[in-house]
Amino acid sequence: MIKDKVVIITGASSGIGEATAKLLANQGAKVVLGARRENHLKRIANEITQSGGQVIYQVLDVIKQEDNDAIVKLAKETFGRLDVVFLNAGLMPNSPLSALKTDDWHQMVDVNVKGVLNGVAAVLPVFLAQKSGHVIATSSVAGLKAYPGGAVYGGTKWFVRDFMEVLRIESAMEGTHIRTATIYPAAINTELLKTISEKRTLGQMQSTYDRYGIAPERIASVVAFAIDQPEDTTINEFTVGPANQP
Ligand code: NDP
Repeated sequence: MIKDKVVIITGASSGIGEATAKLLANQGAKVVLGARRENHLKRIANEITQSGGQVIYQVLDVIKQEDNDAIVKLAKETFGRLDVVFLNAGLMPNSPLSALKTDDWHQMVDVNVKGVLNGVAAVLPVFLAQKSGHVIATSSVAGLKAYPGGAVYGGTKWFVRDFMEVLRIESAMEGTHIRTATIYPAAINTELLKTISEKRTLGQMQSTYDRYGIAPERIASVVAFAIDQPEDTTINEFTVGPANQP
């Protein structure tokens, strides 16, 4: 059941996070939006409210543990509990390793890896106390298959895969009733390519997305499906992408 579930979404200011927030709110969830761009969060929250949904937002930088703790506190104080966290914030400034864009490497590790760790650290105490909770994370097909330009990005998304699988196994063994789901999107038309500064890589990726990209609403419906499962069922992994992308 999605109705009345309290769901935190990171990276909710555009793309997959925005689409998921709107779909879940439309299905009766109470959504808590987090990202850095407040003007985007405000616009999305207004749109959800005008459609009759329940929503709050908070500026969140997933790199900062205190921001993750604050959004969890806000969700609990506003709605009384927390059912789901969708750890979705991420960026993909791909480039060949020889370009030595080391600032980009570190930023990807900070957001895509440490951001997930910070999010889990913030929600686990609540989920353990409640004896229920659902952690959903956005990995990528880049975490399943290596490709040129994606060394660091793919590594961060591989990390998400392994981390989430261990969370699932430990939760089952410890009987914590914490469920997990990991989503592996392929080419989805969002703002993700904007973070690529290396021209050749951008050109290659842009032509792939122009050719194959599908709407972020496709991922939103998969997240909703995972949340909608009965409490005794975990939808563990989803690979979702354009039907015509090899
Ligand atoms: P977008 O660029 O549209 O969305 C990325 C989101 O992450 C934005 O809301 C951005 O918000 C947020 N974000 C980035 N850095 C931070 C930060 N430090 N703290 C908080 N939020 C942050 O792209 P997508 O919707 O595509 O990306 C969502 C997820 O999907 C990412 O993890 C991405 O890696 C993954 N993915 C996407 C694919 C695609 O083809 N689009 C394929 C596979 C995986 P703000 O800038 O306001 O902080």
